[in-house]
Amino acid sequence: MMNHRCPEFKALLAEIQQGLRYAFQTENEVILLTASGTGGLEAALVNTLSPGDKVLAISIGAFGDRFAEIAAAYGADVERLAFDWGTAADPEAVQARLAQDEEREIKAVLVTHNETSTGVTNDLEAIADVVRAHGALLLVDAISGLVALPLPTDAWGLDVVVAGSQKAFMIPPGLAFVSVGPRAWEAARQARMPRFYWDFQSAHRYAERGETPFTPAVSLVYALVEALRMIREDGLETIQARHARWGRAVRAGLTAMGLQLLASGPHASNAITAAYVPEGVDGAAFRRILNEQHHIVIARGQGALRDRIFRVGHLGYVNEVELVGALLQIGQTLRDLGAPVAPEAGWAAAQAALRGSGFKIQDSGQQVRRHPATQPPSAAEENERA
Ligand SMILES: *Cc1c(COP(=O)(O)O)cnc(C)c1O
Repeated sequence: MMNHRCPEFKALLAEIQQGLRYAFQTENEVILLTASGTGGLEAALVNTLSPGDKVLAISIGAFGDRFAEIAAAYGADVERLAFDWGTAADPEAVQARLAQDEEREIKAVLVTHNETSTGVTNDLEAIADVVRAHGALLLVDAISGLVALPLPTDAWGLDVVVAGSQKAFMIPPGLAFVSVGPRAWEAARQARMPRFYWDFQSAHRYAERGETPFTPAVSLVYALVEALRMIREDGLETIQARHARWGRAVRAGLTAMGLQLLASGPHASNAITAAYVPEGVDGAAFRRILNEQHHIVIARGQGALRDRIFRVGHLGYVNEVELVGALLQIGQTLRDLGAPVAPEAGWAAAQAALRGSGFKIQDSGQQVRRHPATQPPSAAEENERA
């Protein structure tokens, strides 16, 4: 490992800061923490709030609940605004609740951008509008949505946005990224929740001289540099179009084989899809067979949906051949377990959705990094390169 206080490492941190600002679409400082995503959420709370502060926690699933629980653990006065799992938060309901707060007691609103436990993406732009009109800080868990789905931090006026390394950033778990806007810095100067490891002001002081306060996960920083270069080369627009195509393909595939999705409307996530386990099928056995016999890992549900749904992740470092293959295998395994599904119909629908999108690899004229999300070069491209 490189010494984390040497000039070479400072150069990596500087490059990362630029890459993260691009990924978050922000001019704000983005703080790098060695932590899983949850550490980033805890940091967002303890740096901006004081014990007893009133907080409105919007929840549409397990991760929304977790954000609320962390706030409560640090002594915030948490009011939950919960919506049914599988649906998105209704911005009008948020507006109605905030409109009742004439005394402006609510200091912060917590919201999940993309709820991984249900496969639902909130209308964050609309929620941000109503929160800004009220004046509370908006703290966003964008851990599974950032990069994969549109989230222009500055254009939407988001005060704190948290992301993590292991989702659309395509690298192993262990780093969290937190964008901190001007209003959040101001709040940080007043905030009295206890903090040491998470302290943004100390992170900022060290960042000014090209360091982190504590030893960061150096190996993950190398990985992040490379991932951010890939993100920059592809461009957010291309990456997000790719996720939209994957989302459509997975929803089309699962539906065509005869399964029911948990969320299918305009809020269905393009990063992860949840579907009901067919009646009579043992969800745990289904996942075990896929894993042991076909080397495909899908997730179970969380909370009350634990054994009732399964979830297919399609974000970050995804290979379309694997994606379509996984759908076929999901169908075949369910059929083997006695469910009335049509795997081939699902496979064909997913293929059609992938092909029908008009997706093309753009020739940027540069040496393109051939990560699996791109297609192999054409013969003409190969010749040109040779
Ligand atoms: C993955 C995830 C988290 C964080 O989980 P960690 O295990 O702490 O990395 C938080 N929120 C959402 C929406 C997530 O998808």
